[in-house]
Amino acid sequence: MSTESGIPDFRSDTGIWADVDPFEVASIQAFKRDPRRVWGFYRERIHLLREAEPNAAHHALAELERRGLVAAIVTQNIDTLHTRAGSRDVVEVHGSIRSAQCLRCLWTEPADAVLAQLEERATPVCPQCDDVLKPGVTLFGELLPPGVVERATDLARAAALVLVVGSSLEVWPAAGLPLEARSFAIVNRGPTALDDRAVLKIDASAGEALAAVLEAL
Ligand SMILES: [Zn+2]
Repeated sequence: MSTESGIPDFRSDTGIWADVDPFEVASIQAFKRDPRRVWGFYRERIHLLREAEPNAAHHALAELERRGLVAAIVTQNIDTLHTRAGSRDVVEVHGSIRSAQCLRCLWTEPADAVLAQLEERATPVCPQCDDVLKPGVTLFGELLPPGVVERATDLARAAALVLVVGSSLEVWPAAGLPLEARSFAIVNRGPTALDDRAVLKIDASAGEALAAVLEAL
């Protein structure tokens, strides 16, 4: 979805994890051991993601929701671009960069305040209890935010069609969601793990394919 907004993906040969070991910068163990290193990584990520703009695919899905054709979006992306494009019901399975959390008192600090703190110090702290804040994204080794898998599963089971956009369907539990639905279609460049189970597979960019869907409607 978001590579078309200039955001690098994680798992391709040119993706983020080709250069950085996720367990060193994006795991809960790394956060507990060395939060400065984790925040050094996320500070740059947050700045990059906030500069990115929603692309044609984000806008098309928001328009489909306005027309009553899309019920909700379930995303593994943390960049908030669906919300910024105007989508209203967005289930962020891996959290987002919108805020940071205190693991001790559960305080939520908005990204603006977090970035302001990071101008002054290496790690942002909780204004309530002074503990180090954790990025609002789900780190490796952490549980997913409470309720998101249940909500996503309910949505998939209730849907006439699940549209999989820009995912190679490798990361669980999101990769299992299409199998909960009555049927599913896939828009993705390159093969996915569930191509032969889909009612339709379109090998194209998300922006191109979804803009064409809008036009055809
Ligand atoms: Zn706190």
